[in-house]
Amino acid sequence: MTTSARLKLADDLVFRPWWWDARQRHALPEPEMPAHADVAIVGGGYTGLSAALTAARGGARVVVFDAEDPGDGASTRNGGMVGDRLKPSFPKLEKSFGIERAKALMAEPANAVDYVERLILDLGIDCDFGRMGRYYPAVNPAHFRAMETSLAAEQAARGDIGATMVSAEEQAQFVASPLYAGGRVQSRTGGLHPAKFHDGLMDAARNAGVTVLARTAVLGLEEEDDFIRLDTGLGYINADRVLICTNGYTGNLQPDLQRRVIPVTSAIAATEELDPALVERLIPGGRMITDSFNLLNYFRPSPDGRRILLGTRPGLFAAKQGPRLAQYIGNRIGQIFPELDGTQITHCWWGKVAFSFDHFPKIGMNERIGHALCYGGSGVAMSVWLGHKLGQKALGDLSGRTAFDDMAFPGRFYYRARPWFLGPAMAWYGSQDRMAGRYRRAA
Ligand SMILES: Cc1cc2nc3c(=O)[nH]c(=O)nc-3n(C[C@H](O)[C@H](O)[C@H](O)COP(=O)(O)OP(=O)(O)OC[C@H]3O[C@@H](n4cnc5c(N)ncnc54)[C@H](O)[C@@H]3O)c2cc1C
Repeated sequence: MTTSARLKLADDLVFRPWWWDARQRHALPEPEMPAHADVAIVGGGYTGLSAALTAARGGARVVVFDAEDPGDGASTRNGGMVGDRLKPSFPKLEKSFGIERAKALMAEPANAVDYVERLILDLGIDCDFGRMGRYYPAVNPAHFRAMETSLAAEQAARGDIGATMVSAEEQAQFVASPLYAGGRVQSRTGGLHPAKFHDGLMDAARNAGVTVLARTAVLGLEEEDDFIRLDTGLGYINADRVLICTNGYTGNLQPDLQRRVIPVTSAIAATEELDPALVERLIPGGRMITDSFNLLNYFRPSPDGRRILLGTRPGLFAAKQGPRLAQYIGNRIGQIFPELDGTQITHCWWGKVAFSFDHFPKIGMNERIGHALCYGGSGVAMSVWLGHKLGQKALGDLSGRTAFDDMAFPGRFYYRARPWFLGPAMAWYGSQDRMAGRYRRAA
């Protein structure tokens, strides 16, 4: 039987990302919008900046538009976990696509992590990147056994993927929590400081000659014979290619795209500064942790090892942005780490991720318009990787091919722009999670 603790809200609790304390705001002189671009990019998060960097390095004149300050979307709000997995398990992929395609699909996120690491090293980005590994604790023995079966199938097909199972008895080396029943460790993944990473990408894109226009929404796209005309907050610009990199903030610029992209709120809270020895004991080695609940907990130490940051999909609590949401996340921290009873929450924030209906990332490019989005909750590495691939596609470079290229991008007849079904779906997932927790206690 597990007990849980109650964390308190600090009197000076702020509703902004803890990461922003270290963020450089790019207060450079506003550049002028040119009349023409080879490649115009909508969205200045990781996807857009990565695509911009690749296209500019390939010789294209590139303009990036962001409706807000670039990075104000998910790219400076996330947990900074650099994952090397797709959401569907390997056995599921194999069943749907056959073994060779399943291997190719699973190789994409692993390639994404390698690419991010190379980029950080090449550009000299100081963003606390490390391959400290990720631990996936199971919330009950049934989840543990499913992880074990899935890992065995994947290892049989792909060889050593840097993963091992960890028993409940060994678990304290990975997370000191009574809530979990062992789990799976992935040793080749890691974490970074998301805002510092975005700053580094922004500097690199600008140094490569990219024009970045902040607080300039793209309001409309009109296809002419030889170019696309973009209607923007600053007037019109013509571009040979347009790349849509708007992920969870996708609006009605292309209604046909919008009805395939489901925005979902993810929210994080940070504790006050703790004794670093306590943080190291609770989460040894500074690892990233993602548990097996449907409405999962993802958590980690801050890069300075002084705080614990925990995120989740808050479901209906997403609508109660403010103290109730902070307390909800604080209660989750208390369930995992009862000894943090009385610890204060000092920061809470949220943002939008995007899912496709089949849970796969999506990338595509027709003659003039392309998109890369729908990374689910695992977009830090994948957005940079697919942004890079999209940049290559915009240059007409065949190395821009990916294993996702020929996948369907399904919509649903009942969904246009408002994901009304998320409330009931989250309530269902929440009830499943409560059952999963009860089963653990009964076992
Ligand atoms: C709270 C939270 C925690 C997360 N944690 C993790 C994690 O730990 N690990 C992980 O791998 N992933 C995580 N993610 C997901 C990850 O952050 C995203 O997948 C990734 O940042 C997506 O980058 P992006 O550039 O595609 O989108 P975004 O960074 O969201 O950028 C999209 C941009 O498009 C702009 N835009 C939209 N419409 C227009 C328009 N018409 N004109 C101009 N601009 C427009 C928006 O202003 C926005 O800046 C998390 C996300 C959130 C919100």
